Amino acid sequence: MVPNVTLNDGRTMPQLGFGVWQVEPEVAVPAVHQALKDGYRLVDTAAIYGNEEGVGEGIRLSELPRDDVFLTTKLWNPQHGAAADALDESLARLSLTHVDLYLIHWPTPKQGKYVEAWRTMIELQKTGKTRSIGVSNFTVDNLNRIMDETGVVPVVNQIELHPGFPQEELRAFHHAHGIVTESWSPLGQGKGLLESPVLAEIGAKYGKTPAQVVLRWHLDLGLVAIPKSVTPARISENLQVFDFALDADDMARIAGLEDGKRLGGDPATANYGVD
Ligand code: NAD
Repeated sequence: MVPNVTLNDGRTMPQLGFGVWQVEPEVAVPAVHQALKDGYRLVDTAAIYGNEEGVGEGIRLSELPRDDVFLTTKLWNPQHGAAADALDESLARLSLTHVDLYLIHWPTPKQGKYVEAWRTMIELQKTGKTRSIGVSNFTVDNLNRIMDETGVVPVVNQIELHPGFPQEELRAFHHAHGIVTESWSPLGQGKGLLESPVLAEIGAKYGKTPAQVVLRWHLDLGLVAIPKSVTPARISENLQVFDFALDADDMARIAGLEDGKRLGGDPATANYGVD
């Protein structure tokens, strides 16, 4: 049901996935299980989310072959100097032998260790403990630095991206370098954005909800999106976005929702966990 995008290392990943930030581990078990039953094949977690055990359990409950599930986790900031141990710890919590994508969660410029972390990630990919390697919240400067110093281009940069904050400049840079753009908080975290009458009007034309219209917007821009919900009906709803398409007028109206406001931290100054 969900199309794949091809990564610059030759692997593929689903274009729509299930995010589990702020989901308690015991809630993650049924949520991930349901998402996989519904047809999601990409799950996005992180060491700092504290729910890797629950995510691993949800994947096992699905009884899907391991290769049918694309699992992302992320290196937490204070472990930039210990990425190999951090991945082992994540795998132990997940009770899995590999993840599909391992991301540096934030560059944390104050630490000055993300190039070191990236060098270790390059080695980790060779061990097979992660199939692909990428980054999150990297700026153009951060990306240029790791590419210049190692020659290895991340497959993905996972960044805050929704109609309010569409990141056109960074997207163009990614496109020029073969980096897939993955949108975090793709629904703008729900409140606010999803109340826009523009989205309701567009949705009414297609019999779709504002959330479905926004997810279609990500897909039509070629982005990977990882909406989060723990509400069973919404988990299903967020996957029902492959039976309609937006037209140019719809896309232009959604572009008009840009307000330039971030919902999360600014990667140029955020130093979570290492301040
Ligand atoms: P989101 O944009 O996915 O919004 C989620 C919220 O929207 C839900 O909590 C719910 O309130 C609402 N919602 C969901 N589906 C809905 C529907 N169909 N109708 C109405 N409301 C609905 O926000 P998010 O959780 O911040 O981001 C998604 C995922 O992105 C996270 O779970 C995580 O995996 C990832 N993420 C990554 C980073 C990073 O630094 N790399 C940061 C934030 C989030």
